[in-house]
Amino acid sequence: MTDRILEFLAERRRNGRDNGPCLVVDLDVVRENYIGFAKALPDTRVFYAVKANPAPEVLSLLASLGSCFDTASVVEIEQALAAGAPSDRISFGNTIKKERDVARAYALGVRLFAVDCEAEVEKIARVAPGSKVFCRILCDGSGAEWPLSRKFGCVPEMATGVLEHAHRLGLNAYGVSFHVGSQQTNPRMWDGALQSAADIFRELAERGINLQMVNLGGGFPTKYLKNVPAVKQYGAAIFRALSKHFGNRIPETIIEPGRGMVGNAGLIEAEVVLISKKSAEDSEIRWVYLDIGKFNGLAETTDEMIRYPIRTPADGAPTSPCVIAGPSCDSVDVLYEKQPYQLPISLEIGAKVLIEGTGAYTTTYSAVGFNGFPPLETHVI
Ligand SMILES: *Cc1c(COP(=O)(O)O)cnc(C)c1O
Repeated sequence: MTDRILEFLAERRRNGRDNGPCLVVDLDVVRENYIGFAKALPDTRVFYAVKANPAPEVLSLLASLGSCFDTASVVEIEQALAAGAPSDRISFGNTIKKERDVARAYALGVRLFAVDCEAEVEKIARVAPGSKVFCRILCDGSGAEWPLSRKFGCVPEMATGVLEHAHRLGLNAYGVSFHVGSQQTNPRMWDGALQSAADIFRELAERGINLQMVNLGGGFPTKYLKNVPAVKQYGAAIFRALSKHFGNRIPETIIEPGRGMVGNAGLIEAEVVLISKKSAEDSEIRWVYLDIGKFNGLAETTDEMIRYPIRTPADGAPTSPCVIAGPSCDSVDVLYEKQPYQLPISLEIGAKVLIEGTGAYTTTYSAVGFNGFPPLETHVI
């Protein structure tokens, strides 16, 4: 939370425009984060994962700082282009693409594509000839608070065949990618994946194909309730792992931070709509209903995986455990119940609460109008 954000919210309230939850993103923090990544990983190019927060102001700032962009659809490619990024700074990093979208991307100038199987390689060979492709491998996501499933990537043993297939079809078999799981709190988790990547490099070199790039993915955390290691520690651990597995032939590297670039740049102001109990028993837990929930911005509370810090005007007063829920008429719209959340007993209906670390994966996960609740209002300052 920054003074600029608090001043913005105070001004919004003075003008009587505070009638729904809103996210405020501070570009100064995004800039600091970009510089932090560039310093921690000086020889690595940054491809910002657009899906984390595609606000035009965020993309323009990053484009002006020299960032590249990892995109998952033609619309995201167009958003990056509109922000001023040239097409040679954009990758189409989704492993699941329609052939006509690959063709659109190619027409827009994109020449760097992710694959994880031969069928995807064939699409790219047909409509984006000569492009660079990197093969995504599965890796161990333990240590991640928002782990990625087996949905993307293939086992490392298969990647060699996929890349060889690309080479045979006239594509530039360019490298290997992986994602160690989002909100990865253990900097050492890159080690195992880099070992697999180095094995693939060696195996293909023996077949006369020289890979050049390792895409280290995202996963860099932002601080929620618990402290996380600093970006410098990730840079050091990754450099150690690169040296260990590639020796003095360290490949070109890129990272794709999403959460770590924008998470701590955003703050949501929300309102307490109702506080109630389900029975008159004194021991009964309180339910605190906010005007924001799973459907208008806080989807990452699914399975209570991301626990946001919540500030209230009554902070410092004695607390009791609460269930926190959203405003919609869907019983799934409960944020924290299995692990109740401590909130001040004196918290009142109508109070404003501040939800920290909400710059990533909030606006993009907000429904367009479920139950008539509008999409999350955003201000970038
Ligand atoms: C979502 C995504 C990212 C960003 O992940 P974070 O954990 O937010 O840093 C990076 N790369 C790919 C391919 C992604 O899909």
